[in-house]
Amino acid sequence: MAAPLLEVADLVRHFPLRAGPAGARRGTVRAVDGVSFAIEPGTTFALVGESGCGKTTTARLVLHLDRPTSGRILVRGKDIGTLRGAGLRAYRNEVQAVFQDPYSSLNPRMRVGEIVGEPLRIQRGLRRRELATRVGELLEQVGLPAAVARRHPHQFSGGERQRIALARALSLSPKLLVLDEPVSALDVSIRAQILNLLADLQEELGLSYLLISHDLAVVEHMSHRVAVMYAGEIVEVATRANLYENPLHPYTRALIAAVPQADPDVPLVDSGFGEPPNPAQLPPGCRYHPHCPIADASVCPVIEPVPRPVRPDHTVACHLVEPQEVASDATRGGGERLG
Ligand code: SF4
Repeated sequence: MAAPLLEVADLVRHFPLRAGPAGARRGTVRAVDGVSFAIEPGTTFALVGESGCGKTTTARLVLHLDRPTSGRILVRGKDIGTLRGAGLRAYRNEVQAVFQDPYSSLNPRMRVGEIVGEPLRIQRGLRRRELATRVGELLEQVGLPAAVARRHPHQFSGGERQRIALARALSLSPKLLVLDEPVSALDVSIRAQILNLLADLQEELGLSYLLISHDLAVVEHMSHRVAVMYAGEIVEVATRANLYENPLHPYTRALIAAVPQADPDVPLVDSGFGEPPNPAQLPPGCRYHPHCPIADASVCPVIEPVPRPVRPDHTVACHLVEPQEVASDATRGGGERLG
């Protein structure tokens, strides 16, 4: 296995909870609480979970839009918390983001050419002719004609706008793209096109993706490895095949069971397995125990489970999951084009 492009080690982000006119501290919101994972070059690693589970806070920390309370984020072994000046600028160029809403992420007053070319103009100092050529190449790379550079974002559909956002994100030749719910705001008919484009770009450019999603169908199609987050923690991490064919954590099982497999349009996370806990008032022991159908009252509300490997490339944080028999194809997984 190649050395990781990105390693996240025991990442913690707590926010003070303040109340009253004086803003007195009333507690702590434990948004991200000891998260660790690694992303290998050219692969997609997905963080999946319900709204508020900490996946977007984790993405913000990876993008260096926020600072962790503790823990480290390493890019090719270098701690990004120690980067300053040119080193930090280089990291920001290497790690780009595409967000959920293509309607608000593009400046409506700028032409497409300016939007896509702005990072190249500012960071690389490209001049007019060179800039126009490179912008045209980037637009064609995402399936748009170079001539659209003269138009404004409002003249495009949601899917086309997401292509423009992608062209901008690719402009500085990043190694890692953070994809935060990249297709959830798009019409279902357009989603497969954007997912296929992302798969093609990954293969062509050797990109790594950190995919943030609540949508288990999107995650299944795009990911090589998947981590399930619950209440600020990763409760299960595995190859795509392991996770979808043999989910082991009771919360992962509930998530997958809540997805009507034949209908990808139906909301993928429902409330059938209980509201997630308030991150300022987490239950003791296993955070999932108030909803867990197999909780053991003698241990689950008392002792917090730690992540344990239960078979190759499959780790689970649950007291009751035992090591598993290894299937011959247990480690297969990877992004796929949709038909
Ligand atoms: Fe359920 Fe206990 Fe496992 Fe938590 S540790 S998921 S409560 S069985």
